[in-house]
Amino acid sequence: MTNFEELGLDKRIIEAIKSMGFENPTPIQQQAIPQLLAEKRDLVGLAQTGTGKTAAFGLPLVHFTDFSKKHTQALIICPTRELCLQITRDLTNFSSNYDNANVVAIYGGASIETQIREINRGAQIIVATPGRMVDMIDRGRIKLNAVTTVVLDEADEMLNMGFKEDLDSILSETPDEKNTWLFSATMPNEVARIAKNYMSNPIEVTVGKQNQGAENIEHKYYMVHARDKYAALKRIADFNPEIFGIVFCRTRMETQEIAEHLIKDGYNADSLHGDLSQQQRDNVMKRYRNRTLQMLVATDVAARGIDVDSVTHVINYNLPDDPEVYTHRSGRTARAGKSGVSIAIVNMKEIGKIRDIERKIGKQFVKDKLPTGVQVCEKQLINLVNKIHDAEVNETEIEKFLPQVHEMLKDLSKEELIKRMLSEEFNRFLDYYRNAPDLNSDDRGKDRKTSPMGQGNSEPSGRFFINLGEMDGMDQDSFRAYAAEVSGLNPFDFKRINIKGSFSFFDVDPKQALAVYDSFQFKKFNGRKIRIDHSDSKGGSSGSGGGGQYGGKSDGGFGGRSRERSSGGGGGSKESWGFKGKSSGDYGGGGSRGGNRNSSAEPEKKREFKRRRN
Ligand code: AMP
Repeated sequence: MTNFEELGLDKRIIEAIKSMGFENPTPIQQQAIPQLLAEKRDLVGLAQTGTGKTAAFGLPLVHFTDFSKKHTQALIICPTRELCLQITRDLTNFSSNYDNANVVAIYGGASIETQIREINRGAQIIVATPGRMVDMIDRGRIKLNAVTTVVLDEADEMLNMGFKEDLDSILSETPDEKNTWLFSATMPNEVARIAKNYMSNPIEVTVGKQNQGAENIEHKYYMVHARDKYAALKRIADFNPEIFGIVFCRTRMETQEIAEHLIKDGYNADSLHGDLSQQQRDNVMKRYRNRTLQMLVATDVAARGIDVDSVTHVINYNLPDDPEVYTHRSGRTARAGKSGVSIAIVNMKEIGKIRDIERKIGKQFVKDKLPTGVQVCEKQLINLVNKIHDAEVNETEIEKFLPQVHEMLKDLSKEELIKRMLSEEFNRFLDYYRNAPDLNSDDRGKDRKTSPMGQGNSEPSGRFFINLGEMDGMDQDSFRAYAAEVSGLNPFDFKRINIKGSFSFFDVDPKQALAVYDSFQFKKFNGRKIRIDHSDSKGGSSGSGGGGQYGGKSDGGFGGRSRERSSGGGGGSKESWGFKGKSSGDYGGGGSRGGNRNSSAEPEKKREFKRRRN
């Protein structure tokens, strides 16, 4: 293997990266660096994040920069603020042994005046997001006429995010005589177009097969009913007590809701999405980076550029429509030579997406079974024993309390003591998971009977029942507007709307049924939990009669308004249709659904869980 000394880099750079803990170059660094140092040329790098690509371009860039001059010599464009800051941090470290080196980050959502002052101080290397860069150029605050190298990082992401025109306009501001280095995880036509238009005879470096996920990522999926996705997520978290993960959701609203439910259920989680202020996002990221936060629930856009090592699990709460997005998600784990797991929680209707992704990444998913309650308990018990075994003891602080403690415990044998200590912590899990249902749905039978998205093997019809009606002030227009807001669909995607007193029916395109169903999960309207379910042909015709049939179903099965008011509920069997058995508070404590729920004990249990996890 080549070592850093053999690559031809300036020794000040080598010293800097050694002190960062880099010992040997990664494959992309071995391929790119010697070629870039040997000859000033354009380069196309096909590489995922996590392969060391920042250093692959950053080290030669620092090597070529004349830090005794103040003018801007290199420009790096990347899709997100997070990545912009990460690259800036890396390049500042790479150039730490050069006097007067100044690497400046230019990104939206922060004071442009401060950034202008930084540039005026003399920024030899600028790292920018496209929108803010165009703003700077428009204001005439940035001079790019002496730039010798432009790097386009995560080019596919920038195009996905609609930065095509911004990129064209930035590149047209740079001199013709320059080198362009383009990095992308994938090579769609649009990226190939940029490479063709702006580059001549580029060196090509590829790490791994094109479009392939990193080798050391294990891809697996769990098949559950759509309604059990959240319970499945919690079970995965409980089965992996040391999880340090990212949970990907489809919409901002869903992201917020899943995070809120996890927090309420005592998990160490928080959300990251575009509706948060910059300060809130920074705060969440800081906690995640410091590992004081265990689970980050994020949208794809917000999570772009997250560069945190040691992410153990990427969880796809919902799979993206575009398989390419999956490669970006899964690439958040297994970074810097580590291994990781990318999990998809899917229902039967989503299996096609799994197959699309498999084709894209050239790897097969393993279908795994969600652990049973007993298995979770066992895992937690072992984890607890390990923690006790490895606990750090502060001898001086604890010493003064020990005589009293010894006195209090003197009638217990070691065996008794162990049993009691473990039980104190462990009983909560036992209670929680006692009689926990099997969440795995069988793709060959059971699921067909019970899937909320439709009966049998047929496609979902796209007709829904929802427990919102005239009593909630709904008419067709207000319902359309509300449903569009919740689901992100167009108001006129909601058809054949039939508003009844306390409930309604509506149609969507069957292709959108799953997304609509998912988007209403956990929703509340005026503080009341929304129930939505697939409506079979027996009820819900747009004429009369549907209400009567669903009225009956609502009493027993949908947990509709009448039932929510009553103190009973729960106790449904797993085989029931729709929401039967998911009484109010269904997502409360996780795991224990159905008849064993003791409503008065619930809040206490939750409190205990919270204490345990935080
Ligand atoms: P990147 O693909 O540039 O986002 O890098 C992924 C992670 O690998 C970052 O945390 C880098 O600091 C780290 N890294 C990059 N190159 C090396 C190397 N040669 N040795 C060890 N760690 C590295």
